Amino acid sequence: MKPERARLRGLPAMDALLTHDAAQELIKQHSRSLVVAALRAELAAARQVILAGQEVELAPAAIIQRAAEDLLRQQQPSLRPVINATGVIIHTNLGRAPLSDAANVAMRAAAADYSTLEFDLQSGERGSRLDHAADMLRDIAGAEAALVVNNNAAALVLILSALARDKEVIISRGQLVEIGGGFRIPAIMQQSGADLVEVGTTNRTRIDDFADALTERTALLLRVHSSNFKQIGFVHQPDLPALVSLAHERDLLAVDDLGSGALIDTAQFGLEQEPTVQASLAAGVDLVCFSGDKLLGGPQAGLILGRAEAVGQLKAHPLARALRVDKLTYAALLATLEHYRRDEALARIPVWQMISRPLDDIADTAHRWAKVSGGNVIKGASTIGGGSLPGATLPTWLLALDSANPQALKTALRRADPPIIARIAGGRVLLDPRTVLAGQESDLARVLAGVDCA
Ligand SMILES: *Cc1c(COP(=O)(O)O)cnc(C)c1O
Repeated sequence: MKPERARLRGLPAMDALLTHDAAQELIKQHSRSLVVAALRAELAAARQVILAGQEVELAPAAIIQRAAEDLLRQQQPSLRPVINATGVIIHTNLGRAPLSDAANVAMRAAAADYSTLEFDLQSGERGSRLDHAADMLRDIAGAEAALVVNNNAAALVLILSALARDKEVIISRGQLVEIGGGFRIPAIMQQSGADLVEVGTTNRTRIDDFADALTERTALLLRVHSSNFKQIGFVHQPDLPALVSLAHERDLLAVDDLGSGALIDTAQFGLEQEPTVQASLAAGVDLVCFSGDKLLGGPQAGLILGRAEAVGQLKAHPLARALRVDKLTYAALLATLEHYRRDEALARIPVWQMISRPLDDIADTAHRWAKVSGGNVIKGASTIGGGSLPGATLPTWLLALDSANPQALKTALRRADPPIIARIAGGRVLLDPRTVLAGQESDLARVLAGVDCA
């Protein structure tokens, strides 16, 4: 008999496992069916290992222990908090913008209690959920009217469906962008039933290109912020005021998809100037749209600001109902916008706290980490991410961990509780304090003290 065959016989039977005290204890914690399934999976895995000629512990206690660990893992929700030590501030895969404390409190209250979502306390009559953010956005950005939808992609779909269906939309070839995750501007336009009219060339488009393309079917002129890529060299795009005046001469609409939608000037942090919402509105666009969870630093949402008449047409469109946001989003968004209204965005909104975080403070943190984990503190660069300011970096200090097997160390950090997401460069595992929230530092230090950097 082959040695594997003999060892397979050493596998305990399910019944024997189930009568074991440890298994009985597990059944109390979980349920009989879950424990049976976990044990069955462990037995199957052990069989595979034996057939592959490798070693595995076959004692009932060991098998039950492995099943118990599996059951614990299964209990973890698949959507759970992680520590972002990548230095990418608006990290789309890690949930983009973390919310401010005030936004969290507001969301909790909206979730736990009844609220004035569609109720006017003054009159005691039915109110509109669409009004909640409008006053605030008028105050902050100087918009006549505003509407909030599910995300910026939805904002674009609604704008084009309501205002340009079966009509022509003119856009520069240099702005027919793919945002990420397969989201492409031409596909969105097609979905909305608008006819795309591309003008100019990849690198250069002039205002005359737009003027030459006007027909009686033209509905609007669209500018899309290139967000996640940069053109340099022999390039030109018409400026927004020129686009607006051409549109208005012909009674057409000018629409600006700003993408990240900064309300604060990024140049004060040594970054390039990200176009602001206020600048778009001041240029006279009829509508500007942007994301709630990029540089605004709020929840996922698509914000549409602009002239009352155009916004009114959007509100009246059936898609507005399909794309509306829930009360949790409003709660978080209103609390986030309140930080702007009070001029405290830099101090209170995590994305802006990270962007404006003093370098000395980052260095102190990196040195604190180095004390518990070993490793060196080195110079590095953080990025904005989320399709904002491509190529722009902020100087930072990194904890660099040397390891014979950096990939294994990175994986160990990712499997820790809470998971720590780091990156590898130059053969070392790098952790950037800039994107680690203050409340996560003790967890991070505990994990770092425990991981084996060998
Ligand atoms: C990010 C982005 C979008 C999509 O926004 P979501 O809120 O992710 O749907 C659309 N347009 C531009 C220019 C963007 O940068």
